[in-house]
Amino acid sequence: MDELSGNSLTFSKNRVMQALFYNVENNKVRCRLCPHHCLIGEGQTGLCRVRKNEQGVLVAENYGRLSSVHLDPIEKKPLYHFYPGRQILSVGSVGCNMRCAFCQNCEISQVGVHEFPWFKDVPVEQLVARAKSINENLGIAFTYNEPTIFYEYMLDVAREAHHQGLKCVMVTNGYIEAEPMETILPFIDAFNVDLKAFTDSFYRKQTHAHLAPVKETLMRIRQAEKHLEITFLVIPGLNDSVEEFDAMTDWISNNLGQQTIFHLSKYFPQYHMARPETPDATLLKLHELACRKLSYVYLGNVWSRLPGHNTECSNCKAVVIKRLGYDVETPGITADGSCVHCENKVVER
Ligand code: SF4
Ligand code: SF4
Repeated sequence: MDELSGNSLTFSKNRVMQALFYNVENNKVRCRLCPHHCLIGEGQTGLCRVRKNEQGVLVAENYGRLSSVHLDPIEKKPLYHFYPGRQILSVGSVGCNMRCAFCQNCEISQVGVHEFPWFKDVPVEQLVARAKSINENLGIAFTYNEPTIFYEYMLDVAREAHHQGLKCVMVTNGYIEAEPMETILPFIDAFNVDLKAFTDSFYRKQTHAHLAPVKETLMRIRQAEKHLEITFLVIPGLNDSVEEFDAMTDWISNNLGQQTIFHLSKYFPQYHMARPETPDATLLKLHELACRKLSYVYLGNVWSRLPGHNTECSNCKAVVIKRLGYDVETPGITADGSCVHCENKVVER
């Protein structure tokens, strides 16, 4: 469902917005929003295609320009331990600061604003009012393309949404500099971060980025005590070695905590990557390995064919949440998110 279609809302065309986090260097601008630190010449855009040097001013060309607006189950983000069974108004724009060969959203992530004619221009107040007006809506999720690169809009929306009592969610690749991350952290309640591999060579070759800043982002989220879930897309032959996987799950357990929620996701051929889909046997093997280190491990992109969907309390091991696709039952969870059997805190609620 397109939540902003029809005549119920009007759209502003006032969308030129000066970007945050940049400085001027010899008639060029240096963007400091993400670790690429693009040096951008007059009339050019950065690697993300949406931050443009206009006469020495860095402009966020995609401010308020939404490619997608949908009411989604929170489980679709995926977030399994954050208000399970609720829905959240989810928005995205265009552009991305990575170039993943396997991108599942390349039609919006790998284009700039001038290559996408179907935008809805949605002012901040209008989006927040819409989110407030939907019965049972939890809040606003920034997702679909990489929200870091529509940062200014996300920050404005998240501030206003928080002010009005809505929850905010960021689904991100984690490739963002420390200062913008620290600035937005108070206004985001929950994160799902894609951890795409655990080697820098994978990040360099497959995404045009680096691993270390993503680890730093994960640490910042954890230190801020925000809700965190991690998604790892398992690509056969590229990031599925047992050694790399063990190193990843060890690092998560030791640095982010054993209770960190971890989603293993099945890969299918997409965009520039043609290698065959992840075998079920690989997913099951990695699921079993991860369960030795982490309390909550799930399988994604497999619907309910395989195990790894229900939630067992990490303390007493009772099944407390049952999932079938996006149908969620929470018979074992109290109103405050604890296990009904042993009072162990399991979810935010
Ligand atoms: S946000 Fe865009 S322009 Fe800025 S450094 Fe990152 S990729 Fe470059
Ligand atoms: S970070 Fe996500 S949206 Fe961006 S290119 Fe990679 S998979 Fe696509």
